[in-house]
Amino acid sequence: MLANFEENLQKYARLLVAKGINVQKGDWVKMTITVDQAPLARLITKEAYALGAEKVIIKWSDDEITRLHYLNQPTEVLTDIPQYEIDESEDHVLNHRVSRLSIISSDPGLLNEVDPAKIGAYQSAFGKAFHVQRKATQNDDLKWTVAAAAGAGWAAKVFPHLATSEEQVDALWDQIFKTCRVYEEDPVAAWDLHKQTLNEKANKLNEIQFDALHYTAPGTDLTLGLPKNHIWVCAESYNPKGEEFIANMPTEEVFTAPDTRRMDGVVRSTKPLSYAGTLVEGIEVHFKDGKIVDISAEKGDEAIKKLVFDNEGGTGLGEIALVPDPSPISQSGITFFNTLFDENASNHIAIGSAYPTTIQGGTKMSPEELRENGMNTSTVHVDFMIGSAEMNIDGIKQDGTVVPIFRNGDWAI
Ligand code: ZN
Ligand code: ZN
Repeated sequence: MLANFEENLQKYARLLVAKGINVQKGDWVKMTITVDQAPLARLITKEAYALGAEKVIIKWSDDEITRLHYLNQPTEVLTDIPQYEIDESEDHVLNHRVSRLSIISSDPGLLNEVDPAKIGAYQSAFGKAFHVQRKATQNDDLKWTVAAAAGAGWAAKVFPHLATSEEQVDALWDQIFKTCRVYEEDPVAAWDLHKQTLNEKANKLNEIQFDALHYTAPGTDLTLGLPKNHIWVCAESYNPKGEEFIANMPTEEVFTAPDTRRMDGVVRSTKPLSYAGTLVEGIEVHFKDGKIVDISAEKGDEAIKKLVFDNEGGTGLGEIALVPDPSPISQSGITFFNTLFDENASNHIAIGSAYPTTIQGGTKMSPEELRENGMNTSTVHVDFMIGSAEMNIDGIKQDGTVVPIFRNGDWAI
């Protein structure tokens, strides 16, 4: 077992509730987590109550049972989400402004045997059924954090060369603790320092207000417009009460939304994407006049095509994020097969909806108004990685002036 594992797991649990969702007295907390992570769930529950949470709700799942549901339920049953589940979720969101903590630990290849059409149908039904929760989350109407735990199936995929499952799980926990700064004496203080660095870059980009970004790398030549009054965002977010929270732990990104009506060129992915239980690799996307006109992948072609062409807003982009190649996750050289980690190793873009928080006044705009401002609306949001040490990015100002933002995968601004 990892040295001081119990102590570090407790520090991690405290970090997630104190810094992640920033629990305040009287808060309701809802956590999704798998049953194999019960020790972490217990610690989080304990720490949340210690900070004054009024109620902690746990939504358990089990990877093997999830897989069996997918394999055995007819699509029409799988996609028929009961109204009482929707009502429960809407009660938590609308009446209690529940803080959401999602602990991700699953094997990225969990659903490899399942028909991608079935997975796509479920994702789409889930997105529609829980749109109130998704909207409240994307609007930062509630505090939310996505973080990880080392599941055995996932650890085996990341560290196949290690001999035993125990060693694999230990190695993955070690990475989670490292990248979340749990090994620091005071992880909460370490996060405050990290945020300051990211804020400096975001502030510079917000001051300049580029009209467009131009990406070049082997296989990539892409121009993405930026909406008027776009906002570059990083680590911390705020709910309407002004309470700070960290949406992703770890996080290394500074991101905004592209003007989805102004996208042209071609981009190639640089890391595998784990999407809906399927591994998608070697993605190539062609854009023309503000739309994805073609997408293909060396692996997982069907799943990625379905994502783009079978979902409302799937041919648009909703996020562009900048992550320097020297970031600790990138430098670890590890492919995590998990977006939470891999997206923080690399520049990425997201197919699907934009975060209304990335444009001035966005959280008060209707879907129509968001679209009129160039923001994509969609029932999906899937990030894929495009960055590398060979990537250059130029910012193009309104007057056509070109300013280097990234050179050879690192900040140049
Ligand atoms: Zn991102
Ligand atoms: Zn994203």
